[in-house]
Formats: sequence, C-alpha cells, structure tokens
Amino acid sequence: MDQQQNVVAAKCTYCGNPTEAPVKAKIIDQAYDNVRRKKYVRTRELEFCSRACAGYYQMSCEG
Ligand SMILES: [Zn+2]
Repeated sequence: MDQQQNVVAAKCTYCGNPTEAPVKAKIIDQAYDNVRRKKYVRTRELEFCSRACAGYYQMSCEG
C-alpha cells in the first residue's frame, strides 16, 4: 500500500528542494550556440519552491 511513490514532487530549480506546489517562472538567460558560435537569449519556464528562489535564479543568470 505504498502509493506515494507514484507522486513525484517537483524540485526547485534553484535550491533543489522538493515542492508540492511549484511556482512557475519565466527565466531569461543567455546560452552559447555552438553551431553559430555566438550567444543567444532564451526563455525557459522553470519550477521553483518560491518566488524568492525564482528571483535569485534569474539574478544568477544575469550575472
Ligand atoms: Zn527553492
């Protein structure tokens, strides 16, 4: 009777803590295109445990 294993908790992208009610946030960062050999801006929707973590993650992307 261990049905809990079917539930996979989302993990916070920033701190890695599992969260049952993830906060989705659009994160804009720069990635390097190996084919074109230049940087480009990408937008990803990632899950976080809180708005604060989303803010920290976005800040770390902006450098
Ligand atoms: Zn977090």
